[in-house]
Amino acid sequence: MHEAGFIADGMRYLANSYRRAPMLVVRGQGCKVWDIEGKEYLDFVAGIAVNNLGHCHPRVVDALQQQAARLIHVSNLYYIQPQIELAQLLVNNSFADKAFFCNSGAEAIEAAIKLVRRYSSAHFGPERFEIICMDHSFHGRTMGALSATGQAKYHEGYQPMLPGFSFVPYNDLDAIRRAITDKTCAILVEPIQGEGGVNIPYDSYLPGLRDLCQEYKLLLIYDEIQTGMGRTGKFFAYEHYDAPPDIMALAKGIAGGVPMGAMLATEEVMNTFIPGSHASTFGGNPLACAAGVAAVKTLLQEGIVDHCQKIGDYFKNRLIGLAQKFPFINNVRGKGLMLGMELTFPGAEIVDRCREEGFLINCTMDKVLRFLPPLIISEEEIDRLLEALEAIFDKCHPE
Ligand SMILES: *Cc1c(COP(=O)(O)O)cnc(C)c1O
Repeated sequence: MHEAGFIADGMRYLANSYRRAPMLVVRGQGCKVWDIEGKEYLDFVAGIAVNNLGHCHPRVVDALQQQAARLIHVSNLYYIQPQIELAQLLVNNSFADKAFFCNSGAEAIEAAIKLVRRYSSAHFGPERFEIICMDHSFHGRTMGALSATGQAKYHEGYQPMLPGFSFVPYNDLDAIRRAITDKTCAILVEPIQGEGGVNIPYDSYLPGLRDLCQEYKLLLIYDEIQTGMGRTGKFFAYEHYDAPPDIMALAKGIAGGVPMGAMLATEEVMNTFIPGSHASTFGGNPLACAAGVAAVKTLLQEGIVDHCQKIGDYFKNRLIGLAQKFPFINNVRGKGLMLGMELTFPGAEIVDRCREEGFLINCTMDKVLRFLPPLIISEEEIDRLLEALEAIFDKCHPE
């Protein structure tokens, strides 16, 4: 069967909840993927900031093959060796003392919501359960994570939301101070907003949040699901700002493409969970954790995070160069390899043109072209995208 046949079957049998490009991807290697017709694409989406090591990294593939033949699942009724090893790696390379594993970003956020509620209830009483969240944030699609997401379009038709979330503008410390009440228990923020349009905080924002949390005895939760695992040129984005949280949600790039989420926390906070407080059947299963161990070790041992920092600067400067040529490019922003280019018009057509030319890119918030390539991307590959983008922009004027 050819591509069109598979796509017709996909439309017939799959839920209609995604706007998919008419493209069937069958293979990936490094920064490239191939569709079923054999056409090659350079991948600047990386599974939405998941394939940080590129597709099918040999160390991840090897770890998965070995673990699949040894033990795939056993449950958290027992100790699991790669789970312990991954927890140790994450703890030794972050602010955290302990890790809880789950299967997705939304689940990591759910775990964080439950942990702060339980901690606050134990220390300050049951009335103190509200979490301050940001406008234009994105935390996932389950009801708790959705309730913490500050974008009305994702709430449509799903009301009522879970109670206990209030919203303030991102990057505004005064707004947070005004929003804090007797009921507030935590602040939840993406260090750099992803789905909300690649929004960068000013330098004193996260340290300011840290201070506010100190002053009002609140817990600080970072959603580093997209910014983590080297994406911004540091292992975690909060390292740019020297302002560690109490709790951090991870997922996306954590296990080299295998589904996994994690919630990290300081010992004092995590110890609020006692046996039975929270659980996941699959969370931290041997297969995902073996991939996670391989992915994290590769990220940390092979200079990939430093490469991301350097190549990200190169990429950003090339995009800024393009912005100087085309007046309809409003703005270029981002850190490391989490870059956004804001246009004055919707970007969907640019995304389609790029795909036709063999480049996968993404667009968020309607007008922000987003670039999230594997962290191993080369200058030469970036040059190829820029050349294609320039040719597309030459032809594709907004008027
Ligand atoms: C992707 C993402 C999520 C949700 O992760 P899922 O694995 O899709 O549930 C949450 N927060 C941020 C910042 C994300 O980028």
